[in-house]
Amino acid sequence: MSNWAGNISFGPAGVARPDSVDELRRIVAGSTRVRALGTRHSFSGVLATTGGFVQLDRLPPAVDIDPAASTATVTAGMRYGDVAAALHRSGHALANLASLPDITVAGACATGTHGSGDARQSLAAAVVGLQLVGPQGDVVELSRDSDHDTFAGSVVALGALGVVTRVTLSIEPSYEVAQSVRVRVPLDEVQGRFDAVFGAAYSVSVFTTWAGDAAVWLKRRTDRPAADLALGTPADGPLNPVPGADPAPCTDQSGRPGPWHERLPHIRSGTVPGVGDELQSEYFLPRAAAPAAFTGLRALAPLLAPVLKVGEVRTVRGDDLWLSPAYEQDSAAFHFTWIKDVPRVLPVIAAVEEVLAPLGARPHWAKLTAMTGPEIRSRYRRAADFQELRDKCDPDGKFGNALVDELSQDRQSPGSKSPRTREVPPWKSDF
Ligand SMILES: Cc1cc2nc3c(=O)[nH]c(=O)nc-3n(C[C@H](O)[C@H](O)[C@H](O)COP(=O)(O)OP(=O)(O)OC[C@H]3O[C@@H](n4cnc5c(N)ncnc54)[C@H](O)[C@@H]3O)c2cc1C
Repeated sequence: MSNWAGNISFGPAGVARPDSVDELRRIVAGSTRVRALGTRHSFSGVLATTGGFVQLDRLPPAVDIDPAASTATVTAGMRYGDVAAALHRSGHALANLASLPDITVAGACATGTHGSGDARQSLAAAVVGLQLVGPQGDVVELSRDSDHDTFAGSVVALGALGVVTRVTLSIEPSYEVAQSVRVRVPLDEVQGRFDAVFGAAYSVSVFTTWAGDAAVWLKRRTDRPAADLALGTPADGPLNPVPGADPAPCTDQSGRPGPWHERLPHIRSGTVPGVGDELQSEYFLPRAAAPAAFTGLRALAPLLAPVLKVGEVRTVRGDDLWLSPAYEQDSAAFHFTWIKDVPRVLPVIAAVEEVLAPLGARPHWAKLTAMTGPEIRSRYRRAADFQELRDKCDPDGKFGNALVDELSQDRQSPGSKSPRTREVPPWKSDF
């Protein structure tokens, strides 16, 4: 078995699929090392383990709405696409979704997954409560209101604190979104008028190959005033983010209003193939560094061209989650969809990082990076607090793996090699 993209193979590790929380508790308690799987859409070693896996897709799906509290408590292994459809049927919504709805709530929140929008935080920022199974099979309940000291360290937690079984999310009344796409937008204009471009709609994504121009995808809430910004020209038909690729899996771009969950993602629920023909990297930068990042990436365009399918720029509002790549920082996120050719892509990732790292880039936990654990750790003010929390919740490192251990200065989980001597970096395929 492997991850969705096939760049990480899980080897002989078994996958247990419990159909109750009690069965999950027994499995976890009886394991030396174990890691939860979502839909396996991560590209990095965040998914790896030298132990076994548990997948929660057989736990009974539930979306329990508390209208008075404006929350929904959902089974953590459910996909956002299913959660969103259930919320919409009852007249509710989430503030944000990622480009792809068919990823699990637990997996997306564990890695700081995000969509776009100047005022849109990462998906994990909507989490106000968690239930997880700890190393002894114990059930732990955490809430933003009660666990002031630790909650912010427990949501974007890379699977390292336990297996999350239930997540309580903030919700709001349902709303409609109209999506339209403008093409042939000069990169000079996006770079020079960054705030105006990204402020033009509820959620804005800019797609470019860093040579030539850009396509700007505008997702406008119909209950909010629209910005009057003339950008490029309207697309003359539906587009895929990747130039020339089939637009059929994409959400409606006609400008017709529709339910929030059918417009905020770029890709429609149920349409992405089970195996991905791509690799991805992404970096969160302080928003003010965006123009400098544009200059650096445009200069790299000839190097990027042979391996880059498309780049995407999004904005993410800062949050207070210790390991969120948008921690305490309104961010501009620079994403790269690469061809699936690890040896050719890795040197280009390193070149991109030479440009973006000095600007304060934090790599997406679920995507490929050439940065080492200590380099990544140095970019998180609360990394030591997270290590302390992990030591308390999982003293024997049952939920650890090489990537998580690299973040810890002086500990490693059973069976992992020392971060300093490990031959296989977390972004390589042969764990
Ligand atoms: C086509 C595509 C589009 C994408 N679009 C976006 C995007 O728009 N924005 C973005 O930010 N990212 C995006 N990503 C990355 C993706 O959101 C992350 O990889 C996310 O983690 C995927 O969720 P998953 O359910 O597949 O989790 P997995 O990849 O299966 O797992 C991710 C991590 O979560 C942990 N985990 C999973 N379930 C649990 C649980 N129950 N308890 C504890 N830990 C758990 C795993 O152990 C692992 O560490 C995209 C990826 C792909 C392939």
